[in-house]
Amino acid sequence: MQEGDARALGALFAAGVEALRAAGIASARLDARILLQAATGCRPEDVILEPTTEIAAGPAAVFRALLDRRAGHEPVSRILGRREFWSLSLELGPAALDPRPDSETLVAAALEASDSDAPGCVLDLGTGSGCLLIAVLSERPRMRGIGIDCSPAAVRIAASNARRLGMADRTSFLAGDWVAPIRGKFDLILCNPPYIETGALGELAREVRDFEPRAALDGGPDGLAAYRALAPTLGKLLAPQGMALFEIGHTQADAAKGIFINSGFTIHGLHADLAGRPRCLAVGLGMVQIENRAWFSGDS
Ligand code: GLN
Repeated sequence: MQEGDARALGALFAAGVEALRAAGIASARLDARILLQAATGCRPEDVILEPTTEIAAGPAAVFRALLDRRAGHEPVSRILGRREFWSLSLELGPAALDPRPDSETLVAAALEASDSDAPGCVLDLGTGSGCLLIAVLSERPRMRGIGIDCSPAAVRIAASNARRLGMADRTSFLAGDWVAPIRGKFDLILCNPPYIETGALGELAREVRDFEPRAALDGGPDGLAAYRALAPTLGKLLAPQGMALFEIGHTQADAAKGIFINSGFTIHGLHADLAGRPRCLAVGLGMVQIENRAWFSGDS
């Protein structure tokens, strides 16, 4: 879209949709509407109800700049610097993975595994934006938690999110290599590790490949490196009745189960995401009553 184009709201919107379509953006209408709102402060319905409203040159230029970024396949969440997760508005930054709806499966599993007034300690390994820990603590007011990430910049974002959402006094965030600096026993361990096969990174959508921190995606040659690294140290961090919840790639359930079973853990369950794909593996110490023995037969 060129400067000097009509600056009526409806015309700006139509030109924006066209620019994004031309760049191959499938969600062109939705994205143009969100970016137009961000640039001009208009309401969602104004594009339909008030299309002739004149927009000042400044906001129109901001809209054009935002469209250029989206046309370069930068995700809307990164352009706006925030993302909604579990109905919480989280700040994003280049060092933290953009939270995915899939990861809400871990939050739901954590809530299923704990009573609403239960006290307890939560550990979030590879916390990124802090989304998992903050979402669980938002529903469990008596719990406290620690988030750890190898990126100090991610830790700053997570801490800022916790502060803004009123959870500063129940959280602390540390920069460090996985579990190395952590002591203590945790009732819940949450972890969305990198699990994409290194060789598959190049095939990811540009939105992911070009804009997500590689360290949050690259799970080594078979995508399972993080589970292998964590399994041997998990036991000393888990309280006797505690549960660890790992996000997995949807084809990795059997392989990930095998890694944790080999390290002496019990598989408590496998939770599916909204698309019905296995997404969250729940593991614990010791023996529990398992109703569905298919988990162990390797055919699930
Ligand atoms: N679910 C993410 C994606 O496919 C991957 C996140 C991860 O490796 N933990 O883009």
